[in-house]
Amino acid sequence: PSTAHDETFVGAIDQGTTSSRFLIFNKEGEPVASHQIEFKQIYPHPGWHEHDPEEIVTSVQLCMDEAVKLFKRRGYSRDSIKAIGITNQRETTVVWDKNTGEPLYNAIVWTDTRSAALVRELKTRSGADKLQDKCGLPLSTYPSVSKLLWMLENVDKVKQAYENGTLAFGTIDAWLVYKLNGGPQGRDGGVFVSEPTNASRTMFMNLETLDYDNSLIDFFGLKRDNIRLPNIIRSSDAEAYGSIASGSLTGVSITGCLGDQSAALVGQKGFTPGLAKNTYGTGCFLLYNVGEKPVISKHGLLATVAFNFDGKPIYALEGSIAVAGQGIKFLQNNLGLISSSAEINDLAASVEDNGGCIFVTAFSGLFAPYWIDDVRGSILGITQYTQKGHVARATLEATCYQTKAILNAMEKDSGKALTELAVDGGMSNSDLCMQTQADLIGIPVIRPKMRETTALGAAIAAGFAVGVWKSFDELKELNRVGSTTLEPKMPAEKSAEMFERWEKAVKTCSGFV
Ligand code: ADP
Repeated sequence: PSTAHDETFVGAIDQGTTSSRFLIFNKEGEPVASHQIEFKQIYPHPGWHEHDPEEIVTSVQLCMDEAVKLFKRRGYSRDSIKAIGITNQRETTVVWDKNTGEPLYNAIVWTDTRSAALVRELKTRSGADKLQDKCGLPLSTYPSVSKLLWMLENVDKVKQAYENGTLAFGTIDAWLVYKLNGGPQGRDGGVFVSEPTNASRTMFMNLETLDYDNSLIDFFGLKRDNIRLPNIIRSSDAEAYGSIASGSLTGVSITGCLGDQSAALVGQKGFTPGLAKNTYGTGCFLLYNVGEKPVISKHGLLATVAFNFDGKPIYALEGSIAVAGQGIKFLQNNLGLISSSAEINDLAASVEDNGGCIFVTAFSGLFAPYWIDDVRGSILGITQYTQKGHVARATLEATCYQTKAILNAMEKDSGKALTELAVDGGMSNSDLCMQTQADLIGIPVIRPKMRETTALGAAIAAGFAVGVWKSFDELKELNRVGSTTLEPKMPAEKSAEMFERWEKAVKTCSGFV
């Protein structure tokens, strides 16, 4: 395009659980070039899930280079990319040597449950019931701390680095920023920062102060001086994240960062209290904006930071579901029922309903609002009548039921009921799944045309820091045109009956590990 040279663009790194992506957005919030790479999932034992930290970085770098190539081929100039934002899978834990920048173990992924025994012991310590008031999270295998403690107990290299005081601990955002800046060769011996939407998932951060809390670190028996933790800065900052040290975007500043679920809330423009979004990716995460004060849940939800752009943090109530699209991948990779994710829709549509079949997809226990560690995936209600299609339907429904349970909890915690639900993520591509969702929760489900809302959120965080966008008002119209609304159609008694069966199934298989 001939006018391209005057335009301004923002790049977004989306480092997800199954793939890395780089997208280049224009000021209207439209992606003009992108590249995506799936990387290796490592499952060494049942319940274990790892990533290679170096592969995470190289996949991101390759995505940037390929997307920039495409961008240039489309007639744009690389110099029109003003800033880069990062969004990333949360809780996934990386440890490295602060002096050499070398990882000391594979990244332990958020879904990993190897720390279950350790968590059971932590729950018996005095003060365990007070943790959530400070950090917003209950003890479970999910937050980063349990993964770090496991490594400190079981990996000699990690233990050694801790004793020597060279152990750097970070979530994926901190690791990426550090490596993209050139590792230990980066500014000031390595740019080592994180921000509240990620740091709040470690269990080390105090939600009120947005800084590390020594009482939390003490609870876990860690010595603050022996462990290097990244500085917690704002989610949008023109200087502190440094810049890209190599590749086709060398010199471009990183100016924003948000954990993936917070980024999706921002990308869906959930800036004001009362707005919510649900992202159906590998897992599924519902975030509800509660405004300037954290709300500590009494009903199994998490309190987390939505974003902190200008020093006035905005908080969210969160309902986390461990298995969503991952269940579809299971039908594909483990059972061979489908050969691509999209095929689940035809298979599910081959039958009229679930035929009495309920799939509790508890591969990593059940997260919100149940928080049951000792439950595993179970398919209930099978008879001679059951077909593949029923299992496919039950797989899609599992996420919808858990979303319903989360909305019930959210209503109790906030005293308010949602009137509509904004959705995104890979699994939201399924019309059948989204219709089922609307039926089960009895409110309209709204899906934007451009589903890369997580990446858009990262671009917004980065764009704010360098003045590409200046106010939330300006962003209102981004990605508005062409969205789909799915209205609930099922009679309320029928959906209540289905949900009751789900709750009964959860009770039935609890304790079976
Ligand atoms: P993440 O960011 O967690 O890697 P994505 O938002 O990319 O996740 O979503 C990936 C998930 O979406 C996969 O688990 C996949 O099974 C599911 N998915 C992708 N396309 C479809 C589709 N057409 N119908 C249903 N599910 C899909």
